[in-house]
Order: sequence, then C-alpha cells, then structure tokens
Amino acid sequence: MAETATATRSRIFHEIDFDKPGKQIGYLRVPQSRDGGAWSTIEVPIALINGSKGPAVLFTGGVHGDEYEGQIAGARLARRLDPQSLRGKVILMPAVDLPAALVGRRMCPIDGRDFNRCMPGDARGSFCQMLAHFIDTVIMPRVEVSVDVHAAGNAMEAALSTTMHWVNDAKVMERTRALAENFAAPYNVVFWGVDEGGTLASAAERHGALSISSELGGYGRVSVEGLRVAERGLDNVLKWMGMIEGEPDTSQREGGRTRHMEVRDQRSYVFAPSDGLFEPRYLPGQRVRAGELAGYLHFIEEWARLPMPIEFRIDGHVWMAPGSGRVRKGDVVAVIMQEYAGV
Ligand code: CA
Repeated sequence: MAETATATRSRIFHEIDFDKPGKQIGYLRVPQSRDGGAWSTIEVPIALINGSKGPAVLFTGGVHGDEYEGQIAGARLARRLDPQSLRGKVILMPAVDLPAALVGRRMCPIDGRDFNRCMPGDARGSFCQMLAHFIDTVIMPRVEVSVDVHAAGNAMEAALSTTMHWVNDAKVMERTRALAENFAAPYNVVFWGVDEGGTLASAAERHGALSISSELGGYGRVSVEGLRVAERGLDNVLKWMGMIEGEPDTSQREGGRTRHMEVRDQRSYVFAPSDGLFEPRYLPGQRVRAGELAGYLHFIEEWARLPMPIEFRIDGHVWMAPGSGRVRKGDVVAVIMQEYAGV
C-alpha cells in the first residue's frame, strides 16, 4: 500500500505551521512545470491568524476569479486581524483560484477547470485538483466553520445573499441558519437537492464543518454594497463565535433581519429558449409573479423576427439576474427565490 500513500500525499509545499501562535502570511506553492520553468510553482496566498485557544474558521474568496468582494474582504481581514485579541484560529485564502483571479475569469486558465467542481481533488491531478486535495486533506479537517464568499461573476448579478444547502439534520440546519443570520446578508437562500459534491461548501459539510457560501454582487465588478456586507459578515461571524470582541451587527438597510428564502422548485429557473440578446425587465430582489414578463429576447440580425417575450414561471423574488446581454439557448436568464417554507 506504500504506493497509495505516495499517490495521496500533496505535492504542494508551504511554510505555514498550523499550530504555531501568531500571524503567518505566506503561500501554498503548487508545482506547475512550464516552458522555461521546470520547477516553477504558482503561489496561492494563505494566512493563518492564531490567537488563544478557541474555534477554527476558514474564510475563502476568489474560488471564482471573476468574483471580487471575497478577495478584497479576505485580504483586508488577514492584514487587520491581531492574534493578540483573537480567540481561536482564522485561516484565510482570499484568492483560492489565483490564476483565475489574475485574469478575472470564472474558469482556471491553467487547467480550464471550475475550482468549485474539483473537491475533494487529486494529489496528482491538475492545478485545481491538487489545490482542492490540499484544502480537503489539510485545511478542512482543522476547521469547524467555513465561509466561502462568492458573487455572481461576469455573467450574472445576485440579490445580496448567503447560501446554504438543505441537509437532512435539523440540528445542523438550525446552526447553519444561525451562522447565516449572523453573517447577516439581506437574504439567506436555502438550496434543495442540488448535486454540489464538488464544491468547497459540500467538502466542508462532509468534514462536519458548518458551511455557508454567499452571492454578494456580480456583473464582473466590485459591488460597493456587496463588499460592505462581506466585510461586516466576516467580522460578524467572528463576533458570533466569540473569537473577537463585540456583538454582530445584523441590521438591514430595509429594516428587519436576514430574510430566509429557498430555491427548491425547478420552475425557479427561467431559460432562454433560443440564442439572442436578452433584455431583462426586472432588478435583483424585485418581487415578481408567475406569468409576468421576465424580459424580451431580441434577434437583432433579423428584422422579420419580433422580440420574444419570456415569462416567469413562479411567484417570488428575483435572486439572479443575467448581465451578459447575449445569451445562448438553454442559458438561465433569471433565478427566482421564494420565502423559506421549511421542510
Ligand atoms: Ca461563484
């Protein structure tokens, strides 16, 4: 079995000592042989802030390179956190898929993969697979809570939200909901029956960690409000867990607290029935009804072809709106969330 042991050992090297107190800021060096660089590595930023004894959390950003709020909030928090006034341990990876982050794209330009479909990874695989394997075997076993900050990328914009999976365990559901409420985005969206086995969030769940993700902006730019919610959210989680001083600020601009929503019904997804130029007739967060106009699909290349109306299929609020203009047949042009109805 010696061969198996060799095959599963990470090829990534680093100088982080996960048990040493204090602040360590460094890199995971992922081997990447290339023309002109036989022993070259890609250096993925990682920070460990280790205070007095307490819980351990993982904050990740930049799992998709065209989502920026988590990259900024994570790097800023790493610089700001003082181990002297921290109870427990914070592991920060603000730009997980660094090559994708450097070019502002969803997919990794090194191996063409979506990092968030690569867990639990492969020690001998491609860049994303090696990194996923490292996170799955070295980092996830050490943390009790994982917060993965996403936005909707170049193609979409989201109503500012945390997200969580529905799991068949009432206690885990209750604690995850509490985590989301204390992160305190305007919405918390619960997903049903999604095969998300390859995501970071799913990997955290498999390791028994509480896990939320988020959708805090989109359209390929830094959302002012999304970044505010991200930075406050990370602070709030640390406060809620008693790791830093203070009480979480869970107030919302529109009053009240985080609204719990769900995406359960397949009719939540509105698809483009043809290639074209999509004209949305709604904004993220807007309340809509089944049968209402979602938008028009335009066929600019043909005078004879009239714009095609596309309707919403259920009542709810717009969670995801497209931003790319041109869409292809089968693309999602809106995702609707509904009030959380529970089990
Ligand atoms: Ca994403």
